[in-house]
This record gives sequence, structure tokens and C-alpha cells, in this order.
Amino acid sequence: MSRIFRFVPYTITQDPMVWPTYAAECVSGDAAACGATSGERSDPADVDEWIRRHAQGAGHTSYRRSFTDFVALEPPEDLPPGTVMAFASPTL
Ligand SMILES: [Zn+2]
Repeated sequence: MSRIFRFVPYTITQDPMVWPTYAAECVSGDAAACGATSGERSDPADVDEWIRRHAQGAGHTSYRRSFTDFVALEPPEDLPPGTVMAFASPTL
């Protein structure tokens, strides 16, 4: 039994089964950052609201916002049966 090794041009797409998340961290402070965090939220508006409330209470005005999503690698549809998938190293 022979196997065919091919480099497959995968497509990277956002995983529709997992919601993206948003978060913020307060980086205000002179010697050290405050470090207060919103926790992960599914709605970016909730993160904005957390920032407003934290700013109101602590007077802090600098934040790091982050967005996280999950992706899936999908092979092309015309992959011949029995193909062993191989990943190509990115060329720099
Ligand atoms: Zn803070």
C-alpha cells in the first residue's frame, strides 16, 4: 500500500462552534500597572462598560483590550482519498 504525501493548502477559518471573547486589563499606574481585569466577555460592549466603571471608580485611563477567537484548519475539498496530509513550514 502506497501513500501519497502532499503539502496541502489549508484554509484557516474562525470556528463557528466557539464564540470569540473580549477582555480588558487596566495598565494604568506609574511604578506598576493596576492589573485589574474585566474577565472574558462574549460582548465587546460589556468590556467597554467595565472600562467605564473601572475608570469611574479608580480614575484609571489606560487599558489593554484583547480579542480571542478559535480557528480551524480546513483542507481543500478536492483532496484525493488516501492522501496523507503534511504541513508546509512557513517560508520566511
Ligand atoms: Zn486600574
